[in-house]
Amino acid sequence: RFITLEGGEGVGKSTNLAWVAQWLVARGVEVVRTREPGGTPRAEAIRELLLSPQADEPFADDAELLLVFAARAQHLAQRIRPALERGAWVLCDRFTDATFAYQGGGRGIDPGRIAELERFVQQGLEPDLTLLFDMPVEAAQRRLQGRLAASGDTRDRFEQEHAAFFEAVRRAYLARAGAAPRRVAVIDADAPLETVQARLAACLEERVGA
Ligand code: C5P
Repeated sequence: RFITLEGGEGVGKSTNLAWVAQWLVARGVEVVRTREPGGTPRAEAIRELLLSPQADEPFADDAELLLVFAARAQHLAQRIRPALERGAWVLCDRFTDATFAYQGGGRGIDPGRIAELERFVQQGLEPDLTLLFDMPVEAAQRRLQGRLAASGDTRDRFEQEHAAFFEAVRRAYLARAGAAPRRVAVIDADAPLETVQARLAACLEERVGA
């Protein structure tokens, strides 16, 4: 089975991914943890390219979109499909909902065009379950800034994009959830970690079974 985790920056996606992995392993299934963009050496190389800022030549929106899907095609062929075929559970940090959120909501690309690439690259493959970690942008921003300061990291993604960008990302994520309520579970992430994990546990029990 294929489970994806989604959400904007600072919502606790990575911490909760580790927790979900443990939850599944405790139930005796093989879990493959991976992420997008990336997940294989070639796809990680595409990620580097996507995330390296180049002020004198930013990516054209469509170039960014195609690179995200190129990385995804590689990841699906090399890692995700083989794992699913042998019966493993794949736990992926971001997938196509992120493309609708970032390239669609954030960059303003028409979702119909993203859906065309989704069909082309995925050939009908979709996550069985998507956990969308949601919280107000301002609260996520405060968390992220705390984390960056604690690690001595001075990079601030929120300085690279405007708050309006992240608001649009959040709206696009919630629209995806609204359109596919059977697949996407929205987890209110604006709470202490134990509370979020209690919500996660309830959601997993309900949707994946004990
Ligand atoms: O999930 P993670 O925080 O590692 O993602 C790295 C960055 O990639 C994020 O800052 C996000 O803005 C960006 N991203 C993107 N488009 C995607 C997926 C991720 O711009 N489709």
